Amino acid sequence: MGNIVAIVGRPNVGKSTLFNRLTERRDAIVDSTSGVTRDRHYGKAEWIGIEFSVIDTGGYTVNSDDIFEDEIKKQVELAIDEATTIVFLLDVTTGITDHDEAIAGFLRKSDKPIIVVANKVDTNDRILPASEFYSFGLGDVYCISSSNGGGTGDMLDALVATFPTKDPLPEIDIPKIAVVGKPNVGKSSLINALLGETRNIVNEEAGTTRDSLLTRYQAFDFDFFLVDTAGIRKRSKVHEDIEYYSVLRSIRAIEESDVCLMMIDAREGMQKQDLNIFYTVEKNSKGLVILVNKWDLIEKETQTTKEFEDEIRERIAPFTNVPIVFISALTKQRIHKAVEKAIEVYESIKTRIPTSKLNEVFQPILERNPPPSTKGKFVKIKYVMQLPTHKPAFAFYCNLPQYIKDPYKRFLENKLRENFNLEGVPVKIFFRKK
Ligand code: GDP
Ligand code: GDP
Repeated sequence: MGNIVAIVGRPNVGKSTLFNRLTERRDAIVDSTSGVTRDRHYGKAEWIGIEFSVIDTGGYTVNSDDIFEDEIKKQVELAIDEATTIVFLLDVTTGITDHDEAIAGFLRKSDKPIIVVANKVDTNDRILPASEFYSFGLGDVYCISSSNGGGTGDMLDALVATFPTKDPLPEIDIPKIAVVGKPNVGKSSLINALLGETRNIVNEEAGTTRDSLLTRYQAFDFDFFLVDTAGIRKRSKVHEDIEYYSVLRSIRAIEESDVCLMMIDAREGMQKQDLNIFYTVEKNSKGLVILVNKWDLIEKETQTTKEFEDEIRERIAPFTNVPIVFISALTKQRIHKAVEKAIEVYESIKTRIPTSKLNEVFQPILERNPPPSTKGKFVKIKYVMQLPTHKPAFAFYCNLPQYIKDPYKRFLENKLRENFNLEGVPVKIFFRKK
């Protein structure tokens, strides 16, 4: 789990075309349930049963050759920091350009696995010209056509072969908590506030291939891992505040966590950039607690907290069943409460609801509110069961599963959340034929 492939390359080589080819089918499935617009730079892919994430690191440049070496450097740095494997994409129809050389130069300094890919090899007569890309000295060149799919199988075989075979993370039942959020919300301040107060810290290097560090925190009856990645550690630099960078910089931490503490700035509320990070947590089905930080800077009246909460829930609808804690990383106000909530969410993720209990609750609900009939078909749900999965998933058994629409599915999810403690917990619902 947690393999991230970054596509790097100058504008126009076909990064987004390849990205779409790799992610399209899987994302269609994910998105039909959430109704959330797809992020063009980050998606899920799968090859021979191995799942991985793909990021298109070039998404910020408009298609023009008018880019600076500085931007290329940023793009490659991001890939090197955040990815498991890097795909270096080139265009066979133009051959090697100065920008390609610059990217190759940065890539040579990294020890991440790199797959060199010649794109736009739509026909066999373009295979020979592609051999010039061997001159980078970055290894074998894979010839593909992102537009017609040719050659992608061999490339993907090579790609997944670079993934670490064993998950280096320790297999113990302690939550892995990641602190995420856009630059300047207070992530480092919170981490320092937590870590600064205890000497009881064990650093556990979780494998060099992943570039992530788990810091075990044991104090005040808490025991958890803080997920620390390059993306979190790195101080924001020029350009790093470009919206989509902060999302890409959060991905590794999110993927490696069980629960995310997502921070927003109280003075700004939940903005678009925050929402993109929020959706990334959702997309990965991670536990979530929202932290409204810098609460010390807010002038408070009796209704202030309530108003803030309502506004946030409105912004994150329909995923509103999430704990919200108002904190100050600076004064340490309620930072333990934040951790406590995260651990609670972790415990709830492991919840197993007995089938009898589920049906006791759902029989009257299903009788009173059966699925609306479609095309003259009446759907009858017979019973519900929690599936034996790692994260909460429920199967509703019925006669005509294909006729159940998203709004009804959401209705059932809400009922689940109302009746069982699933706050901040990702929930999946399936309809199966019985
Ligand atoms: P990006 O800027 O690197 O993301 O490149 P795009 O994916 O936007 O592609 C740039 C152009 O190259 C578009 O016009 C694509 O249709 C075209 N393109 C991408 N892949 C292929 C390919 O495999 N063959 C051909 N002939 N054109 C391609
Ligand atoms: P990061 O980029 O998310 O890691 O954010 P930092 O932890 O570096 O914080 C950015 C700025 O916000 C710094 O100047 C912090 O001192 C300030 N800051 C962080 N948390 C708080 C808070 O709770 N209250 C106030 N007043 N300032 C804060």
